[in-house]
Amino acid sequence: MTFRRQAQRAAAALLLALGACAPLAPQPPGRAEWYPSPNFDTRRPTLVVLHHTGSDSAAHALGVLTDPAREVSAHYLIARSGKLYQLVDETRRAWHAGVSWWDGSADVNSRSLGIELDNDGTEPFSEPQIATLIELLADLKLRYLIPAANFVGHADVAPRRKADPSRHFPWRRLASLGYGLWCDAPPAADLAFDPEAGLRALGYDTGDVDAAAHAFRLHYRQTDDAADLDETDRALLQCLANQKNSAAAP
Ligand SMILES: [Zn+2]
Repeated sequence: MTFRRQAQRAAAALLLALGACAPLAPQPPGRAEWYPSPNFDTRRPTLVVLHHTGSDSAAHALGVLTDPAREVSAHYLIARSGKLYQLVDETRRAWHAGVSWWDGSADVNSRSLGIELDNDGTEPFSEPQIATLIELLADLKLRYLIPAANFVGHADVAPRRKADPSRHFPWRRLASLGYGLWCDAPPAADLAFDPEAGLRALGYDTGDVDAAAHAFRLHYRQTDDAADLDETDRALLQCLANQKNSAAAP
């Protein structure tokens, strides 16, 4: 191998090693003339994804979420005490959703903010923690104009892999404040209503209908029971899909 080849290989290996943190060039070199305009601002997140950490302490969760070897993070972490930590700038892409899909888009991390609640998945969420979450959501909704339907759980966007936040998460309370959708005891669904189409209309990936249905029941019926969709689910799905449609109408 020539010295030149060796140098090229070493440079390529270095670039590969630095790939995760190297800044992106403003344009692909050689493709376009860089002709900068001053008329821009930062891209805005349009979705909020809520998680529980599955850990016993905020200190442990902070360790995991900042460990380069784990390659996971979130924009915010809220401890059981209600203390709020910010780990990633809101304009940056935190690694919280993983392989995911919502409302027609696979790259959930690129358009969302991730919020972790320190909770082991079997316990109720503490009141100070939820109070801090509500304050944070109010701020985010106001600044980014995020619609109510776009506050979802990790299980909603990754139903094959994830089951957080758990059935203890207060979705109904949050929806009453404008963060997420909710329907209480809706009338029976129309006979022609297709529940799979309803799941898709809400935003779920129906590539695995059973997984999507399980995530739907975890969120909107607050149960881990992985039963098939029943009449109550059909009625809820139609009510929620209508809610989402009417909120999206001009
Ligand atoms: Zn999660």
